[in-house]
Amino acid sequence: MPPYDLVIIGGHLITMDPAVPDGPATIAVRDGLIADVLPAGERPEAAAVVDATGGIVLPGLVDTHRHTWQSATRHFGLDWSLMDYAGAAFVRLGPAIGPEDVRAATLLGALAALDAGITTLVDWAHIQNTPEHADAAVEALQESGIRGVFAYGWPQTDPMRWVVDSDEPLPDDVHRVRAALPDDHGRVTMALAARGPELSRLEATRRDLELARALGLRTTMHLSNAGSVTRLDELGLLDETVTLVHATGCADDELKRAADLGVTASVSPLIEQTMPGLGTPATGRLKAAGVVAGLSVDTGIATSGDLFAQMRAALAQHRQSGRPEPLTARDVLAMATSGGAAATGTSERAGSLTPGKRADVIVVAADTVGLAPVVDPAAAVVLAAHPGLVRTVLVDGEPVKRDGVLLGPVRKALDAARDSLDRLRHAAPEVFGS
Ligand SMILES: [Zn+2]
Repeated sequence: MPPYDLVIIGGHLITMDPAVPDGPATIAVRDGLIADVLPAGERPEAAAVVDATGGIVLPGLVDTHRHTWQSATRHFGLDWSLMDYAGAAFVRLGPAIGPEDVRAATLLGALAALDAGITTLVDWAHIQNTPEHADAAVEALQESGIRGVFAYGWPQTDPMRWVVDSDEPLPDDVHRVRAALPDDHGRVTMALAARGPELSRLEATRRDLELARALGLRTTMHLSNAGSVTRLDELGLLDETVTLVHATGCADDELKRAADLGVTASVSPLIEQTMPGLGTPATGRLKAAGVVAGLSVDTGIATSGDLFAQMRAALAQHRQSGRPEPLTARDVLAMATSGGAAATGTSERAGSLTPGKRADVIVVAADTVGLAPVVDPAAAVVLAAHPGLVRTVLVDGEPVKRDGVLLGPVRKALDAARDSLDRLRHAAPEVFGS
């Protein structure tokens, strides 16, 4: 038996771990873990070899919030406001979505994420219309091979019952799903997608957060308004298990308080800038306050599904804002990796090229007309990388993309998503303008 299962040779590492130097090195994988980072040129015996010569080797990227169930209805809401989106996606499309639509969209979205080098995905699943909807999402995440965090939300069957003025508890099925996903260190784990004080009454928020604690789950919630953090803090509901999605309108002192409590954030730079009503990305203010933040795609209905585009959007928006704190390529890379891992509770397993962590590793081709010659690898990745340059993706040391080819059930996912879109066009024609 060779000492390692797999080695990655010839690449330039960006480790995102201050204790592991960047530069040319060999990564050695055993039992799904990064076993060793060895000097460049070392090529220990291994069952498999990934030749990353001319490539940049990074930790797998982390998407901290994506409504994956919307992945089969892509790119047609670019001109919508937040209110347009809410009306279309939730009021009209939501009740028409069946379990097979969730399965198709989740498989497609998860494969698209892997193709783009995203190895950890928070599937923000506020589509719990029936238990079969939950099962379909979890099974699709498992089939895709991604490190999935299934964030159980609420049904889209009746907005007046579940959100707005709701004080309804989340469906009891959440207990069954938790019992089915008991392993907090497995490939697919669970979180709670809470409604929060801006989508429900404070009583429902309190109940959601207490439920998450009782079930031993992290909580992720959309929150954009000044005062919301204070209201939750006054009830003792915020701690390091809570991630705030957007946090665009939170006051600076609220962000400082959130940082003190260990609360993390998820910034969706493209959608926040393109969809009127979401506010201005808080990237710089979060950094100034000391809140650890990750990046997120949010919804494929109106944004790009890859984090390279999100990194560029975050950087450009911050530079344009004129805020005083510097934001570097490395800062936005940290949001897409180690910060994202913190905001998903996966820091012990993912987010950096650290011996002992799971071998979630990607190789970006850099000996290409778009990137070479590389002077600053971090800047090259942030400014010019894209999913087409992601050559290799490993999750738990297992290839899910090899030599630029995605290995999962791609044809099946495309066919199922097309069938789902056809069904939804028929079921909710007004959403599609036909
Ligand atoms: Zn969202």
